Amino acid sequence: MHILLVGAGLSGAVIGRQLAEAGHQITVIESRDHVAGNCHTERDPETGVNVHVYGPHIFHTDDQEVWDYVNRFERFLPYKNRVKTTSQGQVFSLPINLHTINQFFGKTMRPDEALAFITEEQADTSIEDPQTFEEQALRFVGRDLYEAFFKGYTIKQWGMDPSQLPASILKRLPVRFNYDDNYFFHKYQGMPENGYTQMVEAILDHPSITVRLNTHFTRDQAGDYDHVFYAGPLDGWFDYELGRLGYRTLDFERFTYQGDYQGCAVMNYGEESVPYTRITEHKHFSPWEEHEGSVLYREFSRACEPGDIPYYPIRQVDEKALLADYVKLAEKTQGVTFVGRLGTYRYLDMDVTIREAMDTAAAFLEKGTEIPAFVKSPL
Ligand SMILES: Cc1cc2nc3c(=O)[nH]c(=O)nc-3n(C[C@H](O)[C@H](O)[C@H](O)COP(=O)(O)OP(=O)(O)OC[C@H]3O[C@@H](n4cnc5c(N)ncnc54)[C@H](O)[C@@H]3O)c2cc1C
Repeated sequence: MHILLVGAGLSGAVIGRQLAEAGHQITVIESRDHVAGNCHTERDPETGVNVHVYGPHIFHTDDQEVWDYVNRFERFLPYKNRVKTTSQGQVFSLPINLHTINQFFGKTMRPDEALAFITEEQADTSIEDPQTFEEQALRFVGRDLYEAFFKGYTIKQWGMDPSQLPASILKRLPVRFNYDDNYFFHKYQGMPENGYTQMVEAILDHPSITVRLNTHFTRDQAGDYDHVFYAGPLDGWFDYELGRLGYRTLDFERFTYQGDYQGCAVMNYGEESVPYTRITEHKHFSPWEEHEGSVLYREFSRACEPGDIPYYPIRQVDEKALLADYVKLAEKTQGVTFVGRLGTYRYLDMDVTIREAMDTAAAFLEKGTEIPAFVKSPL
């Protein structure tokens, strides 16, 4: 069959590759001038630094098949994400761990002492049934840690006071009572040696795959193909006829520096008085490379307007109701399967995106054009 993939991000690339290997003819169209979607990496011509153009991307997974898959197309080198935060005139280690707690409270507690201190002296146990993010944080860690590490950052990131966000965002106690400052728990963690774009180019490098960049898809092109996999925005497919699904977008203020500006890849800024959420120093994502110059991004979050790049789906009560209406429309639509972070309006890490793309391709190989509008429900 002749199959169209809209979007040359991980979703489109992996589905396209799997179906090409099974003998189908694949066309991938992409409105940007590069592949790899939001994971796109690009070498800065002046410094030689590999820049994560749409924000920092760290690969981490427990999924053996996904790990083997990415390593088939690009060599991954060891990388551990260790994030710092500047708050109240000091630099602390994140996620909040024993070092953070001891430094913040000026103590030298052992793990069990710190646990007792946080749960008995800091946590607000008068909150019995937390409903909001704020109540949940106060109940878990108490006001001091909440205000230093969660409150300002959350307001900047989501444009909402944590008292308006649901408690479900903060599911578990967000604190470690040891000195482990590895941001992720997954078994595998790494960075592609030459960047994600080189990896996605390798995935798309197959004789049955044609990639067209700078080509914007509109629905009238769908009829030329036996089936369409669409990784663009779900509401965009329907020309936003029911309204727009809410997203946060990001603005990156790029600057350069001679030498090492901050000594780590990601420095968060927890206080509301600092307008950006974090500064990313891209050369630290490739610790095996040496560069004298440095490229940095100050990252600002705001509501996404028409024409902005949609980054984080908001998925609050109103958005979920609108999403349910779009899902009904999509389920009545023939010849298209909605995939990926925009097509299903969910935040998806890269490994989850690849896993879902592999499962979607497998579903197509089993069911053919009878494949449903969603292999993974957005609701
Ligand atoms: C700031 C940020 C940081 C992240 N950090 C991490 C991280 O550290 N680790 C991690 O695992 N994941 C991270 N992610 C998630 C990661 O970006 C996603 O998993 C991944 O990009 C999803 O791939 P996708 O193909 O579904 O979507 P995308 O990468 O968005 O690709 C969709 C593509 O479709 C194209 N497109 C859309 N509409 C059309 C149209 N009409 N015509 C033609 N082309 C179209 C777009 O231009 C885009 O290139 C992060 C995400 C963000 C926003």
